[in-house]
Amino acid sequence: MATQRLFFALELPDSLQQQLVRWRAENFAEDDGKPVAAANLHLTLAFLGEVSSETSQKLQQLAARIVQPGFTLNLDDAGHWPRPGVVWLGCQRAPRGLLQLASLLRAQAARHGCAQSAQPFHPHITLLRNATQKVALPARGFHWHLEVSHFALFSSTFTQGRTRYRRLARWPLLSSAGA
Ligand code: ATP
Ligand code: MG
Repeated sequence: MATQRLFFALELPDSLQQQLVRWRAENFAEDDGKPVAAANLHLTLAFLGEVSSETSQKLQQLAARIVQPGFTLNLDDAGHWPRPGVVWLGCQRAPRGLLQLASLLRAQAARHGCAQSAQPFHPHITLLRNATQKVALPARGFHWHLEVSHFALFSSTFTQGRTRYRRLARWPLLSSAGA
């Protein structure tokens, strides 16, 4: 049976991806880790792993029924997890809408056989991988705002030494102006 490696995530606009890549180049050393390609910068909401097309369809039907408010993401925090070797960008205070959305998607995934990590959800954008040595993090004071109006499902494939994501579907969140 054919399966695909899937995850729900928030996309970043191209312009923000470019800004983050520039900021990363200015604020990290070359040997801090392996930079994630601009087009791959994203914020994962729920990782599904390898799933069948039936499960994928079922989870997409459920995603289409989600009624949740949009929110503003304030990217104003960075950190380093040496064990998985990840340097990340995140928020000092995660918006409630983001936590609710991720929690719903993760619960739906778990109910359909996609094991979810026991670790608490820590929303983040991975900037560097293979960052297992000490990393000097940039001083606080950086800040990007992102109005989040959609969430999406992506497939992930690893071919010819590169990880590529493809957006399979995307769904709107409620606009706060239209409440
Ligand atoms: P690589 O090919 O180097 O693994 P990647 O980690 O970006 O690249 P995937 O492993 O397919 O690609 O992961 C897709 C997204 O899901 C990433 O945001 C990744 O951090 C996240 N992810 C992967 N595995 C898990 C997991 N077991 N639990 C939670 N999130 C995960
Ligand atoms: Mg991975």
